[in-house]
Amino acid sequence: MKRILVTGGAGFIGSHLIQDLLANGDAVVCLDNLFSGRRENIEPFLNHDSFSFMERDVCDPIPLMQIDQIYHLACPASPPHYQFDPIKTRKTNFHGTLNVLELSRATGARLLFASTSEVYGDPEVHPQPESYRGNVSITGIRSCYDVGKMDAEGLCFDFMRQHGIDHRVIRIFNTYGPNMREDDGRVVSNFIAQALKGRDLTIYGDGSQTRSFQFVSDLVRGMKIAMAKDDFTGPVNIGNPGEFTIKELAEKVLEAIPSSISRVVFMPLPADDPAQRKPDISQAMSVLGWRPTVQLDEGLRRTIAYFEEALVEQDDFSLR
Ligand code: NAD
Ligand code: UDP
Repeated sequence: MKRILVTGGAGFIGSHLIQDLLANGDAVVCLDNLFSGRRENIEPFLNHDSFSFMERDVCDPIPLMQIDQIYHLACPASPPHYQFDPIKTRKTNFHGTLNVLELSRATGARLLFASTSEVYGDPEVHPQPESYRGNVSITGIRSCYDVGKMDAEGLCFDFMRQHGIDHRVIRIFNTYGPNMREDDGRVVSNFIAQALKGRDLTIYGDGSQTRSFQFVSDLVRGMKIAMAKDDFTGPVNIGNPGEFTIKELAEKVLEAIPSSISRVVFMPLPADDPAQRKPDISQAMSVLGWRPTVQLDEGLRRTIAYFEEALVEQDDFSLR
């Protein structure tokens, strides 16, 4: 049995990871300030003997604890969340990662850092390999997140060179699935919640921008493989190369929820919104032996089933 710290464990991805780790027989400590995460995501684990929850901010020094591994996920991921208090997002990326690295140094725990495809910015190289250095706007509204994550990645490598920290960096591409908040603000949860409520689907811009959507179970499997791999630092892309325009995604959601009375409406495109994104996963396949298995139609079906149940519980089908 391993003892594992998951920062950001009450969030969307963290809650799936914890469920998997506990099922595997590991002991998990979840550290989260519940900024964008939810207590209900971790409620099923609260009575588990091998689970404990520390409600605290990763920017505060982390108490010394006996651990073997750290998955460092704490950071808001949805643009409305990370842009809500951009200075705090930068602090979370820098001070939070510094604290986690200090804990790794003090305990010898192996660290996996959840970085992002956002480090490629609005990419001019397509698809994006790990060697691409990106096209980010240093002063733009996304920089608290993308430059913040770049800085945190660099910090991991500085700690490795200076202190021999055993770390690995994964760059996660757009991931979706159950446990996303209905008001998360990201496109998959927005479209599904809108369609289920009979509201119009809000496409930002003309909907020709692309994203590559990964189902959360594929990501969790990739994270665990990356963590288990010896002599490996990354960075490595973890994403599903299936690429769709946002307009195609809206059409798929409306097809999958045939009872919906929703239409699509077009709204202004946010500043610095990347025009295209698709992972080159050659490294993940060759070095980690990982590839995604859940394609978009199937992943959407599972996510819609989750949202249907969650909205019924909230009695929130008022407009349908
Ligand atoms: P999320 O917002 O659901 O989860 C983030 C969690 O971190 C939340 O529970 C939040 O409360 C917690 N948190 C935020 N700031 C904190 C702080 N200062 N101290 C303690 N806890 C804090 O987002 P998610 O989609 O689950 O993303 C998890 C990680 O994966 C993030 O680091 C994100 O950058 C990365 N990532 C996600 C995606 C994606 O598509 N979901 C893509 C790329 C990278
Ligand atoms: N988007 C959209 N409607 C929404 C939410 C998002 O058209 O209701 C667009 C957004 O402008 C972006 C894409 O969908 O082009 C993906 O947005 P998301 O916030 O999910 O992820 P990110 O931009 O961080 O990749």
